[in-house]
Amino acid sequence: MRPWEENIRRVAPYVPGEQPKGTDLVKLNTNENPYPPAPGVREALARMDWEKLRKYPDPSSAVLVQALSEYYQVGEDQVFPGVGSDDVIAMAFMTFFNSKKPVLFPDISYSFYQVWADLFQVPYETPALDGDFRIRKEDYYRENGGIIFPNPNAPTGVLMPLDEIEDIIAHNQESVVIIDEAYIDFGGESALRLVEKYENLLVVQTFSKSRSMAGMRIGYAIGHKDLIKALNDVKYSYNSYTMNAPSLTLGAEAVRDDVYFKETLQKIVDTRERAKERLAALGFSFPDSMANFIFATHKEKKAEEIYLALRENNIFVRYFKKPGLDNYLRISIGTDEEMEKLYSFLKEIL
Ligand code: PMP
Repeated sequence: MRPWEENIRRVAPYVPGEQPKGTDLVKLNTNENPYPPAPGVREALARMDWEKLRKYPDPSSAVLVQALSEYYQVGEDQVFPGVGSDDVIAMAFMTFFNSKKPVLFPDISYSFYQVWADLFQVPYETPALDGDFRIRKEDYYRENGGIIFPNPNAPTGVLMPLDEIEDIIAHNQESVVIIDEAYIDFGGESALRLVEKYENLLVVQTFSKSRSMAGMRIGYAIGHKDLIKALNDVKYSYNSYTMNAPSLTLGAEAVRDDVYFKETLQKIVDTRERAKERLAALGFSFPDSMANFIFATHKEKKAEEIYLALRENNIFVRYFKKPGLDNYLRISIGTDEEMEKLYSFLKEIL
């Protein structure tokens, strides 16, 4: 080993879903929105002045913060934007999870949490889900250095009702509780309205799924102004210009078109509900999903075999080769046309 190698911070990185090249493929593996961003985003993009790119962006991200604060009816000092919710959550780990007590998150959950905990060298424990993939709220009624979980959970799609979320927050007012609402717009009740009641609650959302803008990398946290101030202090100690100028303009534009937002969500929810019937008819079972994906297992054929057969035919779904998950496929909800291609191919191979 070369001497400097001893000082390298070693981490086992998070592995994002594959982004296959090519056009004639059905991509249901990374929970992207199958519909384009709002029409106003396209127009704003066309109007954008390339010459302005020579300047630094606004480090306070004011246009985007304003648009979000108006939309969610919270103060501008209660919104913290970042480069996707991954960036927001990584900042939140750095800012809030500095205790010697373990951070808690479910054993089956967004696998990035463990990577951040390792990267930032914080201890953690991962309470097991119950047999129906539900988070047991009682597991979170104990000393901890912070709590984070997605609602709906990923990759299961299982939603925790808001009164249970509130129980967890109420039992943990000595640490910061982060609810990762990457998928909340697809049918769940957001914890945003609890932000006024609990100073230790941070709600994180993203433009990547419900707002069709994964490529722009925009996420945000909403919480008490003291939490947001703490996040900003860390951000300005790390990188003042996290958000680039096009993201700020286009993100703010996306928030303005609520009609398009709601119509798109409804289409995805309708397709998801039909998908539940179609997949069940093909012999799949799955926990009931309130997200834009379904976590399904087949009664006869192994998930890995189905995954590989689909892949051969340019249909991409997500497969996690991990104990407890390795007989499941996480299938993102596409357009009806894409889903039909999936069902007819599944029918052939099953
Ligand atoms: N949280 C959860 C639960 C997710 O599934 C994802 C998507 N990988 C993210 C956060 C991060 O999404 P983004 O950085 O695109 O906002």
